[in-house]
Amino acid sequence: MRTEVSSPLPQRVETVVVGGGISGLTVAHELVRRDPTRSVLVLEKEPRIGGIVGSRDVSGYRVDTGPHGFVHGETGVRTLVDHLGLGEELLPATEEAEEILVLREGRLAPVPTTVRGFLTNPLLSPMAKLRVLGDLVVPPRSTEETVFDFCVRRFGVSVARAFAVPAVRGVTGGDARSLSIDAKFPSVRALEKRYRSVLVGATWEYWKYRRAALRRGGNLPSVREFGMRLHTFRGHGMQRIIDALGADLGERVRLGRTAERLDRVDGRTWRIALADGQAVDARQVVLALPTAATADLIEPHLPEAATTLAGVHHPDVRVIALGYRRRDLPADPRGIGFLASPGDGASILGTIHTSTIFPEQAPADRVLIRTLAGGSSSPGFAALSTAEAAAVIHRELARVFRIGGEPVFTFDHVWRRAIPEYHVGYREQADRVLADVAATPGLHVAGNAYRGVGVNDCVRLALAVAGSALAEP
Ligand SMILES: Cc1cc2nc3c(=O)[nH]c(=O)nc-3n(C[C@H](O)[C@H](O)[C@H](O)COP(=O)(O)OP(=O)(O)OC[C@H]3O[C@@H](n4cnc5c(N)ncnc54)[C@H](O)[C@@H]3O)c2cc1C
Repeated sequence: MRTEVSSPLPQRVETVVVGGGISGLTVAHELVRRDPTRSVLVLEKEPRIGGIVGSRDVSGYRVDTGPHGFVHGETGVRTLVDHLGLGEELLPATEEAEEILVLREGRLAPVPTTVRGFLTNPLLSPMAKLRVLGDLVVPPRSTEETVFDFCVRRFGVSVARAFAVPAVRGVTGGDARSLSIDAKFPSVRALEKRYRSVLVGATWEYWKYRRAALRRGGNLPSVREFGMRLHTFRGHGMQRIIDALGADLGERVRLGRTAERLDRVDGRTWRIALADGQAVDARQVVLALPTAATADLIEPHLPEAATTLAGVHHPDVRVIALGYRRRDLPADPRGIGFLASPGDGASILGTIHTSTIFPEQAPADRVLIRTLAGGSSSPGFAALSTAEAAAVIHRELARVFRIGGEPVFTFDHVWRRAIPEYHVGYREQADRVLADVAATPGLHVAGNAYRGVGVNDCVRLALAVAGSALAEP
């Protein structure tokens, strides 16, 4: 990939994208794809592109530092994969590994995705199972709620405790009792709104998907596959999509360039001043940055939006991957991974059973388990040394999987201010930020602070932002 750190910057371009994570790279790629003559420049602070998305190959193991994959059934990355011609390189998770588990009181049980799954779930009492059926009659509500309150109202408190709390904790590092269902899981809320029942809606959507698959002459997707079949890229992990974007963008991407100030020069020109003293003028600026960096840059122009973004809380999250000799485990960990209830894996938020779902990512005689740890419930965990943190995680994993030996491989990466937390009320605030930005000619924002934190969410927003930038007179 030709991305030179020290080559001189152009003085003026049509569009500057600040931030070379998957959001910024997608915006830039889409701009150039749809308008090949457009001059576009991506400024990235770090010496590598990708931001949170990336994979490291170490001692025969492949470890994703951020997302380990994406749900290919949803739009977002799927569109980007088509644009980049990466379809042949997609690697689906193994079929044996379709379920997600929850760890509660030392027991692993599947997260239910169907009515039958709820009614046979070992974590729910007969009364709790009966209460799940309340979802069929409880009327929809339009006011914003926390994930926990939403689940209590529709399915009962047992389901909320058993599944909603660990799901939010394991996926985002946050707390189901404060994060918003509308902002965090808008597709679940949409099912309630549209079908008056989440279970009816999910079943109906599955049958629609199944009918469409049949019409296309494809294989019938299983219920689980419909909901959550994960994909990554063969031979590379998630790094592949970043490398492909970087290769297509070539010298339009400049590394080691930190945007420090954003000034309005005149009605059609923004000036981006960099930490190294250089500056670039552009008609359009797309800020595809973490919230704090966006807040700093827009503060002189949109002080209210800047205050909102500066106030978003992001817990630290630690990624620890441990490799074990296969013979030290009685069996390979099953499922995609588990979501830990608070108290069960005190530090573990969730695991990904990497060697189960993507066997090529570990040596044949090894088991690789990637954990996310820390989050808002253990804020001090990010400060431990690698040896201390790995020892804690090993102890917790050894209890769950009855591991008889020490890890033979350790990978550790700490993400400070990792994932933005969308509290109740945040979606409205994010809408106001987006409206303020839309009313400012030449200014655009993308990233994980507005319309969801998943890579699919980020890519969907980035494609839409590119569309708006192209349509701007
Ligand atoms: C540990 C972890 C696991 C995750 N797992 C999943 C998962 O399994 N599935 C899923 O869908 N999502 C997952 N996510 C969420 C998802 O990965 C992120 O929300 C997404 O990658 C964010 O991409 P982005 O481009 O918006 O932001 P970032 O990746 O944060 O990119 C922003 C970029 O801006 C650069 N930058 C910052 N300041 C400046 C500046 N002043 N000037 C220039 N550049 C600057 C940064 O260096 C960075 O490269 C995970 C997140 C984490 C942290």
